[in-house]
Amino acid sequence: MGSKTALVKYTASPDSLRKAIELCRGFEGLKPTDKVLIKPNLVAWDDRFRIAPFGVYTTTRLMEDLIICLKDLGCHQIAIGEGSVQLKKDMGTMQAFAGLGYTTLAKRYGVTLVDFNESKTDKFTFHGDMQLAIAKEALEQDFFINFPVLKTHGQTKISLGLKNLKGCLKLASKKLCHNTSLDLEYCFSFIADFIKPTLTIVDGIYALERGALHFGNAYRKDVIIAATDALAADLIAAKTIGYSGEDIAHFGHYAKRHGKSLAIEDYEIVGENLADHIKPLKWDWAWSADNTGPGVFQKMGITGAALPKYDDSLCSGCSPIANLSNILVLSAFKGQPLPSVEILNGKKMQARPGYAKTVLLGNCMLEANKDNPNIQEAIPVKGCPPKEEDVVSALQAAGLEVNVLAYYGYMKQQGEKYDGKESFEERFFTA
Ligand code: SF4
Repeated sequence: MGSKTALVKYTASPDSLRKAIELCRGFEGLKPTDKVLIKPNLVAWDDRFRIAPFGVYTTTRLMEDLIICLKDLGCHQIAIGEGSVQLKKDMGTMQAFAGLGYTTLAKRYGVTLVDFNESKTDKFTFHGDMQLAIAKEALEQDFFINFPVLKTHGQTKISLGLKNLKGCLKLASKKLCHNTSLDLEYCFSFIADFIKPTLTIVDGIYALERGALHFGNAYRKDVIIAATDALAADLIAAKTIGYSGEDIAHFGHYAKRHGKSLAIEDYEIVGENLADHIKPLKWDWAWSADNTGPGVFQKMGITGAALPKYDDSLCSGCSPIANLSNILVLSAFKGQPLPSVEILNGKKMQARPGYAKTVLLGNCMLEANKDNPNIQEAIPVKGCPPKEEDVVSALQAAGLEVNVLAYYGYMKQQGEKYDGKESFEERFFTA
């Protein structure tokens, strides 16, 4: 055993976080003159729809607590960096910073905010000649604090510290990780080799089932996990939501390269008793056995239209488009079989025989199916990612009477679903 991993119950600010940092000796070696970079998880932002932030974003409360702890030590060169998914122009990292009160924190404490999407990069080679472009600010620091949320993920089962580092990549490298031949988790597991986080703190005030966005269900959990060993923090955090080291492919890739154990017994936990804080959370969305749509399609008796399950080549840009398609197909169902159409997304899906029309969402699908003999009539939706209005038009062209208001209604309902529930407190996301 080497370093210690702290597991602390969140009860007060900033004391609980301070205790976690002390227990794992997280600030050992930190000097007041150090350049400190904090990387939260502000996965994506959308000004058009209210996003229920619980379990989705690193809480503003703990971010302020961390800044207070750093300031108490005399640190004065503190930056917060993130590269949120940019769904539309002017709807990305800076809007997330503003919407979650990080901009107010920055002014209050003299902290710099960095949008990694705008950063210059350094390139790092992995797996032969493949390259990852990483934001310079994430590399040119003395002390990197990785500050993810305790959440599950529909492609990688969990999204903790190692996964959170993907936000430091340039967009083209993020897309490269969603590779058609290499595994997503293998690709992003290399980022920690290049950034080498000094400290990982997992914000578990809320935990998210079926994440990584607010379409899953959040739970109040009130834990903080902290460690100077990036894998140890992730292993213990994953365990609190029911996952062992062997369950998570990217843990395996990282552990193998670094000669580390995946067995939790090989890591020293200080603070709370781990067994008292384990509550398994689901990560996956059920799909029909014949891969024609999410479980709800089968429940409602939807036939005709088919939406195969997303795979790990679907990158964050097209992910909302896949979700939009699901809701739109649901909106078209009036109790009768839907027109024969298959709707494909990601980079490697292949059209199956038997459908009169095939909607190809995004440039990757167009390319992957350009010579597919199973396609009777292709309806291409160009774009990387395609525009929402083009998706709506394509589904209409396929004969589906979709109602875009149903999508807006769904998004509204998702944003409001925790309203009035006692343990879901907006104060954790305001400065
Ligand atoms: S078309 Fe979609 S899946 Fe392909 S790279 Fe662009 S955003 Fe990603």
